[in-house]
Amino acid sequence: MGQAVSQRVAIVTGASRGIGRATAQRLAADGRLVVLVARSEGPLGDLRSTIEADGGKAAVRAVDVADRAALAAMVESVAEEFGRIDILVNNAGITRDGLALRMSDEDWDLVLNTNLSSAFVAIRAAARSMMRGKFGRIVNIGSTSGVVGNAGQANYAAAKAGLAGLTKTIARELGSKGITCNLIAPGFIQTDMTDNLPPEVKEHVLSLMAVKRLGVAQDIADAVAYVTSDQAGYLTGQTICVDGGMTMC
Ligand code: NDP
Repeated sequence: MGQAVSQRVAIVTGASRGIGRATAQRLAADGRLVVLVARSEGPLGDLRSTIEADGGKAAVRAVDVADRAALAAMVESVAEEFGRIDILVNNAGITRDGLALRMSDEDWDLVLNTNLSSAFVAIRAAARSMMRGKFGRIVNIGSTSGVVGNAGQANYAAAKAGLAGLTKTIARELGSKGITCNLIAPGFIQTDMTDNLPPEVKEHVLSLMAVKRLGVAQDIADAVAYVTSDQAGYLTGQTICVDGGMTMC
């Protein structure tokens, strides 16, 4: 095992852009050593440089989270290199939208593997290190689609709803070890994932919001920062909808 670092170590999956990138930057600004995970090294290296230029610390791990063995090995390598894992943010996610009756097995499996199974695998791999440290903050990034459903997203909504069950179960199993697990469910956040939606869809979503603006990645990053803070030890097993009051779930 490497020399344990003294600062809290956070793994953020899907850190190359969007919500994951903003979250990684926020956690680094809060003094965490952030391990940046996504499929290709390039954007992660750029983000590491940005974080370091701002005085933070980051490491890069290029991994496909749908590859269970590679994901588990990556998490174990972080524990080995830094001597600890304190925070795990399971954020990597994809959509493959289509009406349920026309959805292919491939699109179902890919979304379930990428958005749900990856969280289970990463949690299982990180838990031992968290238990050793008697501290852990696990955040799964869900979606309001998983809470209220969304036509055209059977695979995605099922994966995100599955994360809620996983979250509550992990909260119950590991709560006595100082480890919390929560689900943050964004509503509509302006990122690459939502950029291509037609303007009328965005207008409709906006009309449903109590706070009359679309979300930005920073809105989620700031919520993750609190839920993963040392002060949030009494908050566990929750689904926190950060959605501008769209669902009030
Ligand atoms: P983006 O599409 O902007 O970013 C997705 C991130 O996940 C990228 O960093 C991408 O990296 C990474 N990723 C995707 N597949 C894999 C994979 N197989 N292995 C490793 N990394 C992967 O999405 P958002 O930032 O919008 O979304 C982030 C999370 O928030 C997702 O879980 C999404 O479901 C959720 N969410 C988003 C909402 C929104 O309105 N934007 C609403 C509700 C939930 P790369 O491609 O470089 O590998």
